[in-house]
Amino acid sequence: MVKHMQQANYDIVIVGGGMVGASMALAVAGIAQRYQLNIAIIDAAKTETTTPTAAGSLDGRATALALGSRNLLASIGVWPALESYAQAIVDIDVSDQGQPFGAQLHADDMAQEALGYVLQNQHIGEVFWQQLNQHCADLVTIVDQAQVLALDNARQNSRVIYERNIDGITQQVEVTCQLIIMADGGRSTLREDLGMYNQQQSYEQVALVVNVVLDKAHQGLACERFTANGPMAVLPLLPVQQQHRAAIVWTQPKQRAQALAAMDNEQLLVALQNQVGFRMGEFQALGERQIYPLSLSVAQEQVRQGLAVIGNAAHTLHPIAGQGFNLALRGAFALAEQIHKACQAQAPLGDLTYLHAFLATSRWDQKLTVGASDQIMKLFSSQQKSLTWGRQMGLLAMQNLPLAKTVFTRVAMGLDQPLAEILPVPTLEVQHD
Ligand SMILES: Cc1cc2nc3c(=O)[nH]c(=O)nc-3n(C[C@H](O)[C@H](O)[C@H](O)COP(=O)(O)OP(=O)(O)OC[C@H]3O[C@@H](n4cnc5c(N)ncnc54)[C@H](O)[C@@H]3O)c2cc1C
Repeated sequence: MVKHMQQANYDIVIVGGGMVGASMALAVAGIAQRYQLNIAIIDAAKTETTTPTAAGSLDGRATALALGSRNLLASIGVWPALESYAQAIVDIDVSDQGQPFGAQLHADDMAQEALGYVLQNQHIGEVFWQQLNQHCADLVTIVDQAQVLALDNARQNSRVIYERNIDGITQQVEVTCQLIIMADGGRSTLREDLGMYNQQQSYEQVALVVNVVLDKAHQGLACERFTANGPMAVLPLLPVQQQHRAAIVWTQPKQRAQALAAMDNEQLLVALQNQVGFRMGEFQALGERQIYPLSLSVAQEQVRQGLAVIGNAAHTLHPIAGQGFNLALRGAFALAEQIHKACQAQAPLGDLTYLHAFLATSRWDQKLTVGASDQIMKLFSSQQKSLTWGRQMGLLAMQNLPLAKTVFTRVAMGLDQPLAEILPVPTLEVQHD
């Protein structure tokens, strides 16, 4: 095994090519073309898109994209490629098991075609990589199967060291750049190595994620159901091979994790159906279940000279309100906007003036979104009488006060977020509504 230390130079290095790292690269690609920047995305995994097994099956986690996120992706020209994988949410039914009041939200009431969209993560990833390969190949270098070992940030010449094993030969590469963007996920060891304190709190809960086959079309209905056994979201998915499908996320106490994993499919189908009833029809079959431990974490430090942290590496949320990726996408676009401003001012991309401006926008958004997800989780996971009463009053008010309903829906849809001032992905056309 021979080790070579090689050198490379880029303007921007994105560490981590998950959904957030890849969307960051797309958000900055138009700016890179205008200002002749070169970008690298480095990921430990194999990012090459292969034919997905999940496309024809039940498996694969799904993400609810808010309308605001759709608008961001449309503003850089990427939405048309995602649209064919997106199931529109046209109605949302919020209910509390055994309680009289619930609320229904309708896209029509908001004069929109959808309240949001549900896409399988695998398809989001595929489309992002395809767009990067097709439209940004001369701007964005994809370095996959490469583990970043160390980072050293500076105002002008930041350094990234990664290791890659090709055919039994381990290469170490030292990369210099103007800006490092860390998008290396919630278990970021690099953030810890840099001594960036991350405030973390376990929810002592897990999320059971599983897709189900329905006996009838869901008509774009999504259900949020609160029960003594934990809140459950049922999201409509596009049909596959004429099978109607939905994605379920069920929050459970941590100590139930083993029992959930051990249940046979028949038992689990019955347990799921009992929680939500027959609003979306009968659950007939289910795919592979996945169980995720849930925690809330926010990195206390998210920028340094020549370095910015985004996505789950910066904040991990409870999935109850489906806001983690939506928040991260807004963060990526806010960072791209500041990169654009630094380019216009001919300033170094790692200059703290711009990174602090990004942080100011992003922190405010994080505070609201993280706080709201946490409060919703506490309110809707509790069986305390006073909280059950409060939640019922909230649902009653939302159902009967048009203003409250409109405000809530607009916030949840991310509709009042301004679009970032960035440039579309080269050669892609932006459709204006
Ligand atoms: C059950 C569940 C349901 C959810 N539902 C929703 C929803 O409906 N809507 C929503 O908006 N959000 C949702 N989320 C949140 C969303 O999934 C996350 O916010 C998002 O996936 C975070 O992506 P990321 O790219 O930041 O991190 P990751 O997906 O973890 O990607 C990190 C990447 O970094 C790479 N990496 C890590 N370390 C290194 C290293 N040292 N060197 C090189 N590469 C490295 C990894 O290989 C990986 O590819 C949900 C989350 C869960 C758990």
